[in-house]
Parts: sequence; structure tokens; C-alpha cells
Amino acid sequence: MAAEKREMEERIAEAKRFFDTYKKEIGKSIREDRKVIIVDFNDLSSFSHQLAEEVISGPEEILQILESALDDLGLIKNARVRFINIPGAQKSKIGHIRSKHLNKFILIEGIVRQASDVRPQVVNAKFECPTCGTIISVLQIEKKFREPSRCSCGRRGQFTLKTKEMVDAQRLVIEESPESLSGGEQPRRLNVFLQEDLVEPKMEEKTTPGSRVEVIGVLKEVSLFHCKQVLFQPDLT
Ligand SMILES: [Zn+2]
Repeated sequence: MAAEKREMEERIAEAKRFFDTYKKEIGKSIREDRKVIIVDFNDLSSFSHQLAEEVISGPEEILQILESALDDLGLIKNARVRFINIPGAQKSKIGHIRSKHLNKFILIEGIVRQASDVRPQVVNAKFECPTCGTIISVLQIEKKFREPSRCSCGRRGQFTLKTKEMVDAQRLVIEESPESLSGGEQPRRLNVFLQEDLVEPKMEEKTTPGSRVEVIGVLKEVSLFHCKQVLFQPDLT
């Protein structure tokens, strides 16, 4: 446990050193009163190959580390890190999504077919284990409210709900674009879950049905995608 904690602290320290090289971007966000730092994947990759690899293989953990580093630097509270220019190899067609993509950072392109209203939604619920006191966070992105299935101490079920974090959230349905399909292939669809800065009015205007988008995020289930960045493509028509 102590070794794990030390390792985590080292990674946060490395992330802080990375952000020391990112002062210009951070300054820009502060001046614009934004909580979002856009990180070019290539910049992170040239700073630390290992951190960049981890963004691809375990994005949720590393995003938390990067955001904690920004918190610790005292420059932006509750910052969000959004990536651009992730490697082309991370691009997948919706129809090619498989279990190997689960919990990885991938890029999907397509056309927005449905967009729900933006609504406040519980996104993160914290539970306490009555046996050992461990706090367990459960990401809430499905319709059904989820509880932890088990604790690292072995306990199963009946955890105590401590807090619920509410943020603005939206669901999109994205469909493969016709020109990406070969003859006779049916376009596949993917549910995309967006939250916080990604559903601000300026963004919402661009994710209306019919818009072409590229989304970067984490695949949570074979048909459910937790979006971490939306990029806009010029309309090809
Ligand atoms: Zn426990």
C-alpha cells in the first residue's frame, strides 16, 4: 500500500513537471476563466513516453493524475484535461469496436443522429465500506444507479452512500458516416456520454443532429462511450 502511494505521488510529481512546460496554455485558460487545459498528445509524448502510453492504456487513472497535478499547482481548481492529436492508431470504426477497446482511449468519427437535452445528472457516487472504511467511487453513466459490487477487503454489497456529484450531462447517438462504409454494410451506432465543458451552450450548438464529429474518449461498454473531447470536422457536403 505504501509503495503504491509513493508511486502515485511520483506520477503526480512528473505530471507537475509536464505542466511546468505548459505555462502558456494554462495562463490562457486562466485569463479566459476556463477550467479546461487542452493538451496536445504529441507534447506529452515528447515530455514523457510513459505518461503518454498510460493515457492510451489507462486514460481514466492518468487523467485523474494530471488533474490532481493541476490542483496541486494551485493554478486551476477542478481542472479538466482534454487531449487533441491522439495517435492515428487509436482511431476505430464504430463497427470495429471490440472488447479489446474497453477502458482504452480511442477516437471515433461519425454523424450525430440524436442528442438528448442537457440535464444535471449524478456522475460520480462515493460509497464507504462499513467493514474497512475504504471510500469507493462509482462512475454513473448508465441509466440504472450503480453500487460497488465489492471492496478490496472482500466485502460484497450493502455499502453506505456518502456523496453524489451532480454535473450537466448529455447523451449523443453517433452513426458511422455513409462514405466510411463498404457496399451493403449497415451503419453502426454508438451511445456517447458527455459532461461538463463538453455540454456548454457553445458546444451544444455544434453537436446537433446532422453534425460531423470526432470524439475522443473511453469505451465503457461495447456500446457506451465516455467522451473526453469533441473535435469538429468541416462538413464534407
Ligand atoms: Zn472494505
